[in-house]
This record gives sequence, structure tokens and C-alpha cells, in this order.
Amino acid sequence: MTARRVSVLGSTGSVGQNTLDIIRRAEPGEFEVVALTANNNAELLAKQALEFGADFVALASENNAKILADNLNGWGGEIGVGPDALKEASRRPADFVMASIIGAAGLEPTLEAVKQGAHIGLANKESLVCAGDLVMSQVKAYGAVLLPVDSEHNAIFQVLDTERPKGVKRLILTASGGPFLNTSMTKLRHVKAKDALNHPIWDMGAKITIDSATMMNKGLELIEASYLFDRPSSEIDVIIHPQSVVHSMVEYVDGSVLAQMGSPDMRTPIAYSLAWPARMQAPVESLDLVKISKLTFFEPDLEKFRSLRIAREALEAGGQATNILNAANELAVGSFLKGRIGYLDIPIVAEDTLNEIGNITENKLDLDEILAIDAMARQTATGVIKRLSARS
Ligand code: NDP
Repeated sequence: MTARRVSVLGSTGSVGQNTLDIIRRAEPGEFEVVALTANNNAELLAKQALEFGADFVALASENNAKILADNLNGWGGEIGVGPDALKEASRRPADFVMASIIGAAGLEPTLEAVKQGAHIGLANKESLVCAGDLVMSQVKAYGAVLLPVDSEHNAIFQVLDTERPKGVKRLILTASGGPFLNTSMTKLRHVKAKDALNHPIWDMGAKITIDSATMMNKGLELIEASYLFDRPSSEIDVIIHPQSVVHSMVEYVDGSVLAQMGSPDMRTPIAYSLAWPARMQAPVESLDLVKISKLTFFEPDLEKFRSLRIAREALEAGGQATNILNAANELAVGSFLKGRIGYLDIPIVAEDTLNEIGNITENKLDLDEILAIDAMARQTATGVIKRLSARS
């Protein structure tokens, strides 16, 4: 057996650690770890490098470079620090690259991995939200394969007939509804970060957990699905399914609806992407439908989950709207986590930033132009956040 060479971008995060957990449990010699990356968490990165015998580790932020060097003293691999090291990690020859950095920071490393024509486990949905046209055209140009890791997109990938797209009527993304599904608008005004970080089903990083509470996560996933599966907004529905057993569905023109189900555990889509097109063992609880006994589905309340409505409007507006939306949302979530703005201010930051900048209609931009718009949106969003925090 030839080992599959794997790099994990964002190896210290929730998806990154779950990826390494699958690799740890695989048959000896099945995988070989090439490169691992983190932003600040030098201790964990060093521990992973030693355990998995990586060739190269990259730390994006220079703050903890000394800690990384001290922890890897005498280690045989190479160490890189700073944004260029991150790109270097993505370029190291690998058969599979897990793109699991959080936020727009994942865009450039993902594009570098695409350029080596690897199989990409795409967890970093923000790459497609910021630069969907660019990423998809590069995937085609370099012959890379995108394997969706988001459980919903992974579900659709498993049941979608890509050979006969005309037979597909619509995609149905499911959403758990997060911790505030049954919370009144009055109570939402007083929500604090610790409440929003308490997701009822999924154990994830802080940013995506807040996005799940506001349902911006589902909005970002709607945009991600549109690019990944080449479908307009009108052919992608979102429904709430609190049990998170049906991970998503595809409806065909003859009325058939195919769903992918399973226990809510990210190690299923991660293992699927790592082994594709084969299957491999994942340490996931078997689905017991009799024990669960009831699966429920209903429409999302777009007043309560305003972020979902804003994301759909951004997708429909086209051009750079989703790039601007993502930048504003990242800043809004960061400010909420620091207690600078309230929970209900998060969608206001996104909406006001989009309104202040207006529609930038170009969608065939290069990376530098996309990053310039991201920077401009962050500047505008900073102004909106200042206004909102001065008011409260
Ligand atoms: P985490 O916050 O848990 O981890 C993020 C990873 O990215 C860490 O390794 C972190 O390093 C690194 N990172 C953070 N900021 C930067 C930066 N500026 N430059 C370089 N690296 C950085 O995130 P998750 O694992 O939860 O999510 C990762 C991606 O996967 C997101 O796009 C998310 O939407 C998606 N996803 C996540 C799911 C989940 O279950 N968590 C489910 C589906 C999708 P450090 O540890 O040093 O901060």
C-alpha cells in the first residue's frame, strides 16, 4: 500500500484535530503527514508535528514563533513562520489537503493547494463565499478535486447525480437551528457570547458556532452550495431539522428525494473526503433511528434569523456582495465575542456594510482585487461596529 500524503491547513482547529484523529486511527502506512499549520497555537502544532512526523509546520502569526522553535528543538522537520510559510505548506506536494483554516484567511492557502491539483477537503467555506468564481475556475484549470467537508455539502455530494444535472430539481440544505431556535426576539437582545457558544448538537470552533446561532452559517453554506454544485439561489432551499440526522437532500424532477443520514459527527464527512472515492472506518456512533424515533422539519423564521435572509440576498445580488458580507460578518462575530456589540447587532453590521458600500457588480476579479475589496469591507464594517458599540 502506498501511503496517501496529507497536509492539514488549520490542524489545531476543530476540523483539523478531527482530521488527525481519523489519521491516527487508520491502518499504519495508510497516510503520511506532509504539512501542518496553525495561527497561534504553537504548543499544539509542535505536539502534532512530533506525533505525526510531519515534514513541515507553519505558524501564521509570528507572536509564538519562539515557543514553536523551543518545542521542536532537535526535531528533524522544517519550521516556517508568517503568511508565506502558510502558502509554502499548501504548496508542499500532497495527494490530499484539508483546507480547514477559519475565515477569509483560508482563501490564499486553499488556492495554493488547488494549484498543485490535489484532492482538497474543503471545510473552509469562506473561500467560496469570498471568491467562488476564482476558486472554481482555478479548480478546473489545475484539475484539482474539491471534496466538500461541511456535513451538508458532503451529504449532497454523496447523493447528487452530477452526470445528469437536468434531472436535479433542487438542493435542500438542513439546519439544526442552533441554540436559539425557540428563543424569543426579546430574549435574544440579552444573549451573551457564552450562551451563543453553547451549540446543542455540534462541537465546533468559536466563529462557526456563533454563525450557527445566527444562521449566518447556513447563509454561507447556501452560497457555498451555489458555487460547489453550480445552482442558483432559487434551486437551493433551507429547512430546519433540529435532530441533525438528515444532513441534506437532493430532489429530482421525478419527485424522488435522496438524503444522506448519519449521527452528527464531523468525522464522517472528514473520513469520506480522506478516503474518496473509497470508504474508510470512522469512529462514529451508528445511527439508531428507532432510538431517535422522530425527525422533524420546518421553515426558518427569517425575521429571527435575519442573517440567513441577508446572505441569500447577497448571493442573488452577485458581484462582490458575498465577499463584502463575509468580511463584515467576520468582524461582527469577533466584536460580539469581545462584548463590543450585542447579538442582534451581528446582522446589522453585515447589512449596513453592504448598504454603505453598494453593489460592486464585477465577479471575474483576480485574487488581489478580491483581497482589496475584503480589506475595504473590513474598514467599512469597523466604522459600523464603532457606531453600534457607542450606542450601547
Ligand atoms: P477553529 O476555529 O476550530 O480552527 C481554525 C484553524 O485555523 C486553527 O488551526 C487556527 O489556528 C487556524 N487559523 C485561525 N486564524 C488563522 C489565520 N488568520 N491564519 C492562519 N490560520 C488561522 O475552526 P473550525 O475547525 O471550527 O472551522 C474551520 C473551517 O471549517 C471553517 O471554515 C468552518 O466554517 C468549517 N467547518 C467547520 C466545522 C466544525 O465542525 N468545526 C463544520 C463544518 C465546516 P489556531 O488554533 O492557532 O488559532
